[in-house]
Amino acid sequence: MELTREQGRGLALKMFSDYYAGQDAKYFSPQRISQREFGMGDFERKIKFRHAEFMTSVELKDYLVKKTPAFVSCSTAYYSHPTFRPMENKGWLGSELVFDIDATDMHLKCQTAHGTSWVCENCLAVVRGEAIKLIEEFLIPDFGFSKQEISVNFSGNRGYHIHVNKESILKLDSAARKEISAYITGSGISFEDFFTVEGIGHGKRIKRLAGPKPTEPGWRGRIARSVISDMNKGIEHLISTGIDPAAAKNMFKKRALIEMGINNGNWDMVYVRDKTRFWSDVIKSHAIAQSDRIDENVTNDTGHMIRLANTIHGSTGLLSKKADTGALQSFEPMTECVVLAKDQIKVKANTKNPLDIGGETFGPYSGEEAELPGYAAMYLFLKGFAEIMQE
Ligand SMILES: [Zn+2]
Repeated sequence: MELTREQGRGLALKMFSDYYAGQDAKYFSPQRISQREFGMGDFERKIKFRHAEFMTSVELKDYLVKKTPAFVSCSTAYYSHPTFRPMENKGWLGSELVFDIDATDMHLKCQTAHGTSWVCENCLAVVRGEAIKLIEEFLIPDFGFSKQEISVNFSGNRGYHIHVNKESILKLDSAARKEISAYITGSGISFEDFFTVEGIGHGKRIKRLAGPKPTEPGWRGRIARSVISDMNKGIEHLISTGIDPAAAKNMFKKRALIEMGINNGNWDMVYVRDKTRFWSDVIKSHAIAQSDRIDENVTNDTGHMIRLANTIHGSTGLLSKKADTGALQSFEPMTECVVLAKDQIKVKANTKNPLDIGGETFGPYSGEEAELPGYAAMYLFLKGFAEIMQE
């Protein structure tokens, strides 16, 4: 006999509660907990009710253990009165700057093959790379934040949340946050912004194409470095970036000379046929794929709620675990975020792909019964790939 969906969900919540009970209360507590608004969700709605508050970490833990929601969200904002409604009455004190990086926004080839509810090793590697890129190529060098001001946590499913908590950004309004989003996603940037035709020599009658140098900050340097690196990868690679074959051959042959030119901001020898497309591709390949679904854009919205770090994601049973900002490259969510009990649970599973979790591989399954560690059984059940069987 299979458990009903409700019974299965009940079992999941019992396992979540057991996990919460075993942790130190401080582990779930966000900074300035009493000034945060909380929202709780069930398996149908990630935020079913909001405007809740907790004065202490012990109070929050107590709630997680006894009332155990499927999802826990917390405001990116601080308020004088988190429970007051409507929003204007809460007394906004400032909001963290938060970025939501999710594999759903990346339109990955593997997703076409396995569907969007399945998450594979590639999805997780790409999304982790994107989070690292945001931190290492934008937040630190371009915005000047330090690693200590940036915290990052796995979303619990197929993404990462990156929080910047620094006094100077707390009061940024929605328009300023939108500009930050636009900058990191490279929207609104066009190649004309980077190049000018300068007159030199003979009464300025000789023209040269002046452009960015690799040592310049921000997008200018990023673009110059990118073209140099593309050039050194060979003719085929250059063609794949949109440079026509004859020009690619020529560029590769003269790459040392061209590189020297670019180092001095002289782009005369770089010949690109369709400039608009070429530069928009270069920009796209370096930009951050952030959600453009307006209602879900965490960065722009100062009243947004986002999953509380170190709580369990109700669609996977994985922990939205905080990672070490400096060691994200080696962060492996499918092992490090596995927190539910491993006591065997019998399931009837249906998966096209094998599941890698907790350092083991399970399946694929085509409707047969299997005994799995609790966390693996719950992962498949919560994602809709398995039914739980009665003991
Ligand atoms: Zn994938």
